[in-house]
Amino acid sequence: MPVLRSPGPVSDTAVGAGADAAPEVRADCSRCFGLCCVALPFARSADFAVDKPAGTPCGNLRPDSRCGIHDRLRDRGFTGCTVFDCFGAGQQVSQVTFGGRDWRGDPGIAGPMFAVFPVMRQLHELLRYLGDALARPEAAPVHAELRVAAGELSALTRADADTLTGLDVPPLRRTVSDLLLRASELVRAGSRGRELRGADLFGARLRGAALGGASLRGALLVAADLSGADLRRADVIGADLRDADLSGADLTGCLFLTQAQLDGARGDSATVLPDGFTRPAHWSEADGSRASRAASDRSRPRGGRDRRGGRGRRGSRKAG
Ligand code: SF4
Repeated sequence: MPVLRSPGPVSDTAVGAGADAAPEVRADCSRCFGLCCVALPFARSADFAVDKPAGTPCGNLRPDSRCGIHDRLRDRGFTGCTVFDCFGAGQQVSQVTFGGRDWRGDPGIAGPMFAVFPVMRQLHELLRYLGDALARPEAAPVHAELRVAAGELSALTRADADTLTGLDVPPLRRTVSDLLLRASELVRAGSRGRELRGADLFGARLRGAALGGASLRGALLVAADLSGADLRRADVIGADLRDADLSGADLTGCLFLTQAQLDGARGDSATVLPDGFTRPAHWSEADGSRASRAASDRSRPRGGRDRRGGRGRRGSRKAG
């Protein structure tokens, strides 16, 4: 039985779709035609140095779809570009929806391509979260429903451009969100922490706070001091961590954490990351005392470890 009630033909083929049919949810800029740099609008702000309307190429985008200032984005006032994640939607639209046709050589597809991209990004983001929930053994009671939802969403990512642009995404998001919440509660059942869903914690002083197993869903944590905080198994879906200080914090097992959230935060070499995440290049080295405290903390048993050396969010396309 369909979970998402998406358009008939697409939904029908999606139910039971296997993992082999799932699209990638990690960006591969080398197979994208620079869609995030064209399709999306910017507003001049702390995150973007210029205004840019949707559908207009950024002035820094090169003809080969690479960013001309990739290694200077923060210095040039384009921090927003360093924290954006398309979750693989760029290559899906470029290579699957439009079969490898570049909007530059085929201007007739430019408009539809740019319209599909934000829709695809939302589908891929949901798939990324579903994948996280499916990887948690504690969420086994809802795995069957999660798999059906993932199959339906995967099928939608292979739909044609008209179907995608006509999608009513908010109901899909709500349905998936309910499932993810149930998964979250199962995962955090043994270490249920504080309920801070949607809390306004802008600039809050949470240094060393015990937030293990907490719900921080959609919390506003901009510029919050979370240094040394225990965030193990905290649910951070949609939490705004821009400029939050995660130095020395422990994020082992964090639920629904994204690389973009880490990229927008501050941290250091003592921050404990979950498996599969990359320590952002702009993070600092821990000072001696913090490093030694973190090392001492980590002598306690806990799962997870940092894995360094993964690719940055902006992949090879952006490297100039
Ligand atoms: S990544 Fe570079 S080309 Fe793309 S929008 Fe940002 S500054 Fe422009």
